[in-house]
Amino acid sequence: MQNIKEYVANKKEELRAYINSLTKKLTIAVVQVGDDPASCSYIKGKLKDCAEVGIECKHLHFPDTISEHTLLDVVDLLNSTDQIDGFIVQLPLPKHISEAKVIEAIDPKKDIDGFTKKSYVSPATPQGVLTYLEDNNFKFVDCNAVIIGRSNIVGRPMAKLLLNKSCNVSVIHSKTSTENKQALLKNANLVVVATGHRDTVTNEDFVINKTVYTENDGGLGFNTTYNMPFIVDVGMNKNDEGKLCGDCESITCTEKTPVPGGVGLLTRLALLLNTVKLYKINNNID
Ligand code: NAP
Repeated sequence: MQNIKEYVANKKEELRAYINSLTKKLTIAVVQVGDDPASCSYIKGKLKDCAEVGIECKHLHFPDTISEHTLLDVVDLLNSTDQIDGFIVQLPLPKHISEAKVIEAIDPKKDIDGFTKKSYVSPATPQGVLTYLEDNNFKFVDCNAVIIGRSNIVGRPMAKLLLNKSCNVSVIHSKTSTENKQALLKNANLVVVATGHRDTVTNEDFVINKTVYTENDGGLGFNTTYNMPFIVDVGMNKNDEGKLCGDCESITCTEKTPVPGGVGLLTRLALLLNTVKLYKINNNID
């Protein structure tokens, strides 16, 4: 598998060349409500990514006192103007605003995040992972894929995307027993971990054979055989030193996406790809 930083840099270069060749300027908007620190940091990243590939990104920042009604008016305006090719409403929203109502108000043709029920694109994290695997000629057909986590923005859409590629998909969650989890992991070729909990899986979950030697065998010890699949680590946690880490930090002996510098970059890339896809749909470009 290609190094993710290099892969993303190359894909961005391709996107920049394509966007520069367009006759009409590609313009999107990011709607922010309030000053949630994580949102501020994600939006900073989105603005930077857009600038890098030549997408104009308008940042519409409202105080967290904005009413649901006014925010829905903003969404309506963005839906109807032909000056904006797509937009994102950054989540989370303040408690007095229904996220579901706001998301469903977005015209699917402008829904870059892929969160509406009739979206033309998939949510960025699973889409980014899929595109990376596709571009690296991953063998999907009959691959045993195990997805850990069943959220609406990662686990469930990831399952759908992999099923559409003819993988044999299993989805596990917080109610899955260790016994059942390990039974699935032992046969897995691909594991996507998205729980937000450190050490959701460890090397021990992949042990397929452990031979214990006694003194009669000429010395004490054991020999362990593992089935190590390709692991996509989606999680974002803080380790004991306060540094960013994934959901399976302790796994060492396998091909695994790094954290940081892994799925986060693929997610940001997928948002740009989603933007271009919607632009093509809205402008009847093949
Ligand atoms: P979420 O909505 O909290 O969902 C977590 C899922 O994990 C739930 O389905 C939960 O099961 C399951 N789960 C929790 N503990 C588990 C365990 N010990 N074993 C098996 N399943 C377990 O989280 P999310 O939004 O999907 O995000 C997951 C992680 O990915 C977070 O760390 C988030 O920050 C990260 N993330 C990263 C990116 C990126 O761009 N890098 C993007 C999105 C998310 P139940 O349904 O049974 O509760």
